Amino acid sequence: MTGLLEVEDLHVWFDLQDGGELHAVQGVSLSVEPGERLGLVGESGCGKTTTALAVMGLLPPSASVAGRVLLDGEDILAGGESTIRPHRWVDVAIVFQGAMNALNPVRTVASQIVEALELHGRARGAQARAEAGELLESVGIPAGRGERFPHELSGGMRQRAAIAMALSCRPRILIADEPTTALDVMVQAQILELLDALCRDFGLALLLVTHDLPVVAQLCDQGTVMYAGEIVERGSVDDLFHAPRHPYSRLLFAATPDLDGEGDEVASIPGAPPRLDRPLAGCPFRPRCDSAFSPCASLRPRLQTVGDRHAAACHLNGVPAEAAR
Ligand code: SF4
Repeated sequence: MTGLLEVEDLHVWFDLQDGGELHAVQGVSLSVEPGERLGLVGESGCGKTTTALAVMGLLPPSASVAGRVLLDGEDILAGGESTIRPHRWVDVAIVFQGAMNALNPVRTVASQIVEALELHGRARGAQARAEAGELLESVGIPAGRGERFPHELSGGMRQRAAIAMALSCRPRILIADEPTTALDVMVQAQILELLDALCRDFGLALLLVTHDLPVVAQLCDQGTVMYAGEIVERGSVDDLFHAPRHPYSRLLFAATPDLDGEGDEVASIPGAPPRLDRPLAGCPFRPRCDSAFSPCASLRPRLQTVGDRHAAACHLNGVPAEAAR
């Protein structure tokens, strides 16, 4: 892989109060090229947000991480906080789920952007205030509104302010975690248009974390589907929507009511994902799979290439020789 951002064999475990461990991310590898837009999709709890937070080095102390996160070939997780800090917000920035999580409720939004600019040595004083105004205008917030507190802004304006904060150091990669959740349909469309324009205008690469498939169809070139902490399929958005090679992807995409942006929920699939605090035998999707056959009970499927930049982890694409015997 030669991406701007490469995640290699990422694992994340969380310590549980009963002394056990929850294996939330299980060997995730992905690559984002300069200017590329990659959607990371799946149901709640599949590990997509944990993957994003691991890339940013922002997981809580109860998490253990293994694997590599390469930025321009440098492993930014190798030295812990000392190696990630110079790149966090400067090269890779995140828009957190829920704008209020990113904004300080007792500071005006402009002052928070000024603080971010000064903290990272991008600008000081009057210059920082001018840049904050420009940033807010670039996301559609008139400069005067920057003097308001987050609670004085609408949900859409808060999300725009959170995006402006994330862009304050002109990162090359933006991670957007469920950027349209909790917004009404009109505002969702506006935020997606904004992200689209910002990616074009700033040459940003985008890692979009979402359960919302129409959002991926609208914004992304490539998609990665996660299930139970693993990647089960990846490929172009066209391949995933029109020629999925994993039953989970097929059920997800077939059940999406409108790929032009009108659906706002991933349709439910019968059953529930497996618990990740105990070992799994065979395919994690087997209890919910309408295509399961005998090897699925005992043999864990691995990602295998099924086309150009298209891979799926399902025995329907070929059973390893040891299972066929
Ligand atoms: Fe279904 Fe078997 Fe494929 Fe798993 S490996 S998704 S159980 S067919």
